[in-house]
Order: sequence, then structure tokens, then C-alpha cells
Amino acid sequence: MRTKKFGHHGPNVSVIGQGTWYLDRGDRKAAVAALRRGIELGMTHIDTAEMYGDAELVIADAIQGRRDELFLVSKVLPSNASRRGTITACERSLKRLKTDHLDCYLLHWRGSYPLEDTVAAFEELVASGKIRSWGVSNFDADDLGEILEVSGKGRIACNQVLYHLQERAIEHAVIPWCEKHGVAVVAYSPFGHNDFPSPRSKGGEVLQKIAEAHNATPRQVALAFLTRAASVFSIPKASSTEHAAENAAAGDLVLSASEIEALDKAFPRGPKPRSLPML
Ligand code: NAP
Repeated sequence: MRTKKFGHHGPNVSVIGQGTWYLDRGDRKAAVAALRRGIELGMTHIDTAEMYGDAELVIADAIQGRRDELFLVSKVLPSNASRRGTITACERSLKRLKTDHLDCYLLHWRGSYPLEDTVAAFEELVASGKIRSWGVSNFDADDLGEILEVSGKGRIACNQVLYHLQERAIEHAVIPWCEKHGVAVVAYSPFGHNDFPSPRSKGGEVLQKIAEAHNATPRQVALAFLTRAASVFSIPKASSTEHAAENAAAGDLVLSASEIEALDKAFPRGPKPRSLPML
């Protein structure tokens, strides 16, 4: 598994990590096993949120004895992101995850509390050692500019945003903004939240051809394409050890310039939408 620097100021983090939305809905033992297999194979970046039901409890079981290897991320809901509410939400997540700190803590999306209040709470959590860094999610370039005004340079670790082959809106303004300011980009729903191109579609055929050349799978090719920029990480969710293993192997797949060009044509970026798409 390749690792790369998480923004200008962060540690090295696995290029492919593990999402956990809906991971609590199916067989919990299988979910724990999938996460463990993923960690063994180097997918040490684990993403969760207070919104994801019992996912934090599933993670707590999976990471026992391995906490030190991980880059563990959770998120505060906008409705809790007041000065005090952010601290309380973080403490609840730490308890559920059975850990004493998060590696990064995110505002899940922009809500009605002033950014000043949430940022002040994040900085208090950093000072008390409960989080190592903080970031945002679903922020467009304008929102990023606003929070940078509040936080000052070098404080925003990442922006977690929707990014898959059929939704490339972040390439217009978000990725360039993040690269300019040393902010990591974390691509969520890399398989379109289970809407992956069918093998019979035109794009699916391009994926299949490139996959065969690398003895890989179309999903691995998709992950390699999405993480081709130095600033971008991806966090697919898998509930089986087989899916986790397949996703982890994408962390060593590097595509050639002509393969990237072929994918770019097969899944065009499209015009810049008015607002940033999110799930
Ligand atoms: P996703 O990762 O794009 O897709 C998950 C789906 O793909 C599941 O149905 C999963 O099936 C399937 N899958 C995974 N690996 C596979 C493989 N190797 N072969 C075949 N199928 C495979 O969707 P997502 O869960 O929406 O996004 C990933 C993570 O991003 C989330 O879990 C969450 O942590 C984060 N996220 C963040 C936000 C935000 O607002 N910040 C929003 C959405 C998601 P199985 O479960 O059966 O393995």
C-alpha cells in the first residue's frame, strides 16, 4: 500500500482507506473482519462519523490492539457543531471508538453555526490532545476560502468530498484550491455509493480493458484513477474481507498517462455545476 503526505502538514497516510457508512447494518462479525483485513493490508485510514449509527462501535471492535497504526477520522454533525456541542460530540465519538484521540476530526457539512465557533472548538480539541488535526467535508472552494479566513493558514487538514468516475465536479475548483493551500482531498463514495459503471457500458469496457492489462479489476482501476493526483486519497466502504482485499490492492496500482487519458475520455469531467454535489 502506497502512502502519501496528508496535506502540507499531515503524516503519511494510506492512499486507499476504509469508509464505514452503513457498515453497522449487516453482519457485524463480517464487518469487523473486513476492517481488520483492510488494516492488515495497509488500509490504515479509517473514516467514520457520529452520523453513521453504530459504525463507531464496529470500528472499536476492529481496531483493538492496532490503534497506533491508524489514521482515525470522525465527523461532527452540523447540528452539533457549536462551540460546546463540537467538544461534547467529539468526546462521545472517542468513547464509542474506545480511543483517547482522533487523528482528524471533520465538520460533516456546513450548517448554521458560525464557522468561528466550530473552529474554536476544533482548536480547543487539538490543544487538549483529543484530536491531532481537523478538517471539513462537502466544502466548495468559496466555503474553503471563508474557513481559511477564520482559521489562518496551515490549520485545515483535509476536505472530504464526493468523487467518483461519474462525478468529477471537484476537479474544477476544489482540488486546485486544496492543492494551492496544502489541504488533503479525501474522495468519498469512490464507487458511486454502489452505482459502479456496468461492464456492458462503454465506460465499463474501457475500465475492463485497462484492468486486464494490469491483472487488476475495474474497481481497482477506478481507485487508481481517482487517487492519481498527489493530494487525493480515497475511502471505499467494504463489508467483506474479499472486497476489502480487492480495494487494498488498488493502493499499489499506478496507471500510465495514456490509460488516464482513456478514462478521462470515457468518463468526462463535464461542466462545473452551480453547487458542489454531495450525498
Ligand atoms: P462506496 O465506497 O462508493 O461504495 C460502497 C459500495 O461498494 C458497497 O455496496 C460495497 O459493498 C461495494 N463495494 C466495496 N468494495 C467492493 C468491491 N471490491 N467489489 C464490489 N463491490 C464493492 O460508497 P460509500 O460508502 O458511500 O462511500 C465510502 C465512504 O465515504 C463511506 O462509507 C463514508 O465513510 C464516506 N462518505 C462520506 C460522506 C460525507 O458526506 N463526508 C458521504 C458519503 C460517504 P459491500 O458493503 O457489500 O462490500
